[in-house]
Formats: sequence, C-alpha cells, structure tokens
Amino acid sequence: MKHLKQSQIEHLDRLLERRDRELRAEIRALLLQSDVEHHRDLAGMVGDVGDESVANLLADLDAAFIDRHVRDLRDVGRARKRFATGVYGVCTRCGQGIGYERLAAYPTAIRCFACEAQHEKTHVHEGTPTL
Ligand SMILES: [Zn+2]
Repeated sequence: MKHLKQSQIEHLDRLLERRDRELRAEIRALLLQSDVEHHRDLAGMVGDVGDESVANLLADLDAAFIDRHVRDLRDVGRARKRFATGVYGVCTRCGQGIGYERLAAYPTAIRCFACEAQHEKTHVHEGTPTL
C-alpha cells in the first residue's frame, strides 16, 4: 500500500465499508422478498455476522437470486482483510501497486490493469469486471 497516499487509503477504506453495508442491505432485502420462510429467517442474521459467516450461511442455500451479492460480499471481505494486513492494492500476480484510479473504480481489484487483461485472455469465461 506504499504507493497510495494516506487520503487515498482512507477513501478506499470508506468505499469498501460502504460497499459492505450496501451488499448486506441488498441481500437482506432480497431474502425478505422471498416466499421461502427459511430465507426470511436468514435475513435477520445478515447484518450481524462477519463476511465469511454470511457467505457460509448463504452458501448452502439454493438461492441463485443472491449468488452474485454473496460473492461480491466475500470479495469485499477479502479486500478488507488485505487492508487490515497492509497488502491491499498490491497486484497478486506481479506484486506491483495497483493504480489508485483502478482501485477507486473497483475497490476489490486484486490484479493491476495489465495483469487483469492478461488474466482475462486466459480465463475468458469468468466475467471479472474490468475498467
Ligand atoms: Zn500485475
């Protein structure tokens, strides 16, 4: 994270925190709309537990309607963990710092732009968002 200014780090931290809250709210809303009673029971738990727990809680659920949200929440949780350990914003492939513009637009990015492009060429079907 050495390539980022303190103000940039704080901004990215806030972005991740907000995304975490938004995703939990969306998951909760979707669960509450469900016709399945069990889903509505789970909705009350989404706000209180850690990201991994939410993901585990919902992983066994046959609920394609929240799959993407749960995956995103897991990504945000991982990003915040990298944040806490000071390795956030470092490309997992080449070890270079990921540009602030890229992180601001895509706070859960784990690869720099060049490596992401390379990765997509070899993993065409994953559909990872890019800039
Ligand atoms: Zn890279």
